[in-house]
Amino acid sequence: MAQHEHVRVAVIGSGFGGLGAAVRLRREGITDFVVLERADSVGGTWRDNSYPGCACDVPSHLYSFSFAPNPEWPRTFSGQEHIRAYLEHVADTFGLRPHLRLGHEVTLMRWDREELRWAIETADGASFTADFVVSATGPLSDPKTPDIPGLADFPGKVFHSARWDHDADLTGKRVAVIGTGASAIQIVPAIQPKVAGLALFQRTPPWVMPRMDRKISGAERRLHRALPVTGAARRGLLWGIRELQVSAFTKHPGELGLVERIAKANMAKAIKDPALRAKLTPSYRIGCKRILLSSTYYPALAEPNVDVITSGLAEVRGSTLVASDGTETEVDAIIFGTGFHVTDMPIAERVVGAEGITLAESWKDGMQALRGASAAGFPNFMTVIGPNTGLGNSSMVLMIESQLNYMADYLRQLNVLGGRVALDARTSAVGAWDRRIQARMKRTVWNTGGCNSWYLDANGRNTTVWPGTTAEFRKVTRSVDLSEYEVVRIPKRAAAPAKAVAEEVVG
Ligand code: NAP
Repeated sequence: MAQHEHVRVAVIGSGFGGLGAAVRLRREGITDFVVLERADSVGGTWRDNSYPGCACDVPSHLYSFSFAPNPEWPRTFSGQEHIRAYLEHVADTFGLRPHLRLGHEVTLMRWDREELRWAIETADGASFTADFVVSATGPLSDPKTPDIPGLADFPGKVFHSARWDHDADLTGKRVAVIGTGASAIQIVPAIQPKVAGLALFQRTPPWVMPRMDRKISGAERRLHRALPVTGAARRGLLWGIRELQVSAFTKHPGELGLVERIAKANMAKAIKDPALRAKLTPSYRIGCKRILLSSTYYPALAEPNVDVITSGLAEVRGSTLVASDGTETEVDAIIFGTGFHVTDMPIAERVVGAEGITLAESWKDGMQALRGASAAGFPNFMTVIGPNTGLGNSSMVLMIESQLNYMADYLRQLNVLGGRVALDARTSAVGAWDRRIQARMKRTVWNTGGCNSWYLDANGRNTTVWPGTTAEFRKVTRSVDLSEYEVVRIPKRAAAPAKAVAEEVVG
């Protein structure tokens, strides 16, 4: 028989956002919740991205939960396997396993206006109802592979960076890497030494700064273990430096010229060929796209088995890849490092709100959510890492924890209001919030730097990045302002005639 469960809260996803939400719920004394996860283990993007060289470019002591410091981080920028293990450890330490429903892909969430709760269906036939939903599916969960004519007939291996085919042996093969984003620039130096030839399809050159990665010594780790305050101080320093950088991105992009000089020196150190340097030099302001960190990318590109093709992949003819500029290259395997469905996240098509329309329809002119959390018409529903909560230079875990403060207060307010009740963000409040964000966006490097990036949606609106410091976001998400919400109660049912009620009581 199909399984059905009613819970106070359903959390969707078990990456940093979902696990963080689960810990926070327990801290608030809420244990009546489930975490619905489509995969068979926790970890989100750090489970799915297992490509060679995968690591975080935010230092580990900052890229971790404040409530779960990890004195054992092995490197300043730890690798994917360590981050994934950390998330597994969080699930164990905070007793989250009984709440996990693995292999439960959410196919539909529909708001029930009569009962004031969410009805949730999953691909395996299980169903849930929940008073409150925390959607923590993350913006980097659904890989985007461009629709390239002829790709289906390519005879070799084809896969996306976020779905690495570990059975594919690339040794001695001719490999094409499509894209030059954060994923691709980690893959290229990791596979270059073993492939026969590497054709890199670069549509837009990225800015790449040196990556100051090093092993964290045993002595440092012992110190952080014995005196946790030292780990906290390290984190505080990493955080403070990044907070000071924010105004250059958001208000004074001109100040980023110095950073461009460092990035150019990083390139010049490894790339001696002026023609190749010219190909790799960006023509937009640094920071407009995410600044990439690598000390091995340029040295790999300087190797004789690498060819940089300065245009996108346009067509596949058998095993020949045709670039937009007509260049033809024959390869044995194609790796797409072409990013994710960020501003068109598929989960939005599966959420049906109070007006009977999906979140995707509601966001057809661009994503909008009050304080990054609440969309109008979607009561008792919040998105972790929602619209305009992304960062260009610091740890997303800080933003997630701020959103969890907001979630905790949201649930507290529902308790205070009492009874069967929901909060629905007012259209006017969502609109005012969005206008404030977009007005600030006008001066930022993401909107003025002269590039096209995944920060911008199909209409050119920046609906992904937060145009302020993480401290400011912490402040604006500290509590729920009830004036920004409509309080919704169960519609009164037609009162039964007095005689019938009396008969019922007597009978
Ligand atoms: P991405 O930043 O969206 O990069 C996608 C790349 O694919 C871009 O270079 C894009 O070119 C290119 N592209 C798309 N279609 C193409 C085509 N038809 N032909 C050639 N190139 C094409 O994706 P990502 O690298 O996976 O990174 C996504 C985000 O994940 C990052 O910004 C970061 O937030 C996160 N991430 C972080 C780390 C880390 O911490 N180290 C590592 C990986 C990912 P254009 O630039 O011309 O659009």
